[in-house]
Amino acid sequence: MRLANKTALITGGSSGIGLATARRFVAEGAKVAITGRDAGRLEAAVRDLGPNAQALVADVTDIAATEAAVARAAERFGKLDILFANAGIPGATPAGATKPEVFEQVIRTNLTGVFFTVQAALQHLNDGASIILNGSVISVLGNPGYSAYAASKAGVRAMARVLASELSPRGIRVNVVSPGATRTPIWGAALATPDAERAFEARIAATTPLGHIGEPENIASTVLFLASDEAAHIQGQELFVDGGVTSSP
Ligand code: NDP
Repeated sequence: MRLANKTALITGGSSGIGLATARRFVAEGAKVAITGRDAGRLEAAVRDLGPNAQALVADVTDIAATEAAVARAAERFGKLDILFANAGIPGATPAGATKPEVFEQVIRTNLTGVFFTVQAALQHLNDGASIILNGSVISVLGNPGYSAYAASKAGVRAMARVLASELSPRGIRVNVVSPGATRTPIWGAALATPDAERAFEARIAATTPLGHIGEPENIASTVLFLASDEAAHIQGQELFVDGGVTSSP
């Protein structure tokens, strides 16, 4: 029970990496609030997670709604010990075809949303808390089509270092987990049919030194580590969980 008596807030906790992390946190003894935009998906997730989970409908692009959700989690649980700012959307269009509203929505969700989630949480976090931000290998790879997404995630990394400096006096740690391709609904059509999934897996396997796609649980176990006291001296770092993609030539 590495998170006994701990409380956590996970944005985007109704699916994929966020939900897998919520499962690990609850299994390790934490009380967990999860956010998302879709109430039905959140309720389903909470039924799955059990009585130590709470669902809060909140869009991270809505600063007031984010503040309200964080305040409600703190009201129910008391102070927060862990924040996983995880909510994010993809965005893959070639630069010439990227509409302003698409670019802005990716930045508003993946970067602005992360910042204002952290800001909203500051007054509710215990000293010694752990903040984990969700980055991405895309921020260092230069894959075609990902200008907005890569910029948003590179911003997350840069922001984490600043937040780590600012929050160190309170003993609050701020780190980034940066997944490689991971099997979640974010991939949409690429996983929509068994044939599409096999083709996608083969493509990822061919470009991943460890030879397979990541699973949400791979990321969840890393977030659990960063959230726990075992990572007590890790501050301002980015941990890639990508099967070796960013370390290969
Ligand atoms: P999913 O699509 O499975 O989950 C995304 C979650 O974020 C959902 O719970 C979704 O709920 C929520 N969400 C999306 N937009 C908002 C919003 N505006 N406000 C609140 N919640 C929101 O994707 P993943 O689990 O794969 O993605 C989680 C994070 O991991 C993202 O930041 C993503 O960029 C990052 N990542 C994922 C990789 C992958 O290969 N899967 C690789 C690298 C990084 P709802 O739609 O109901 O709002």
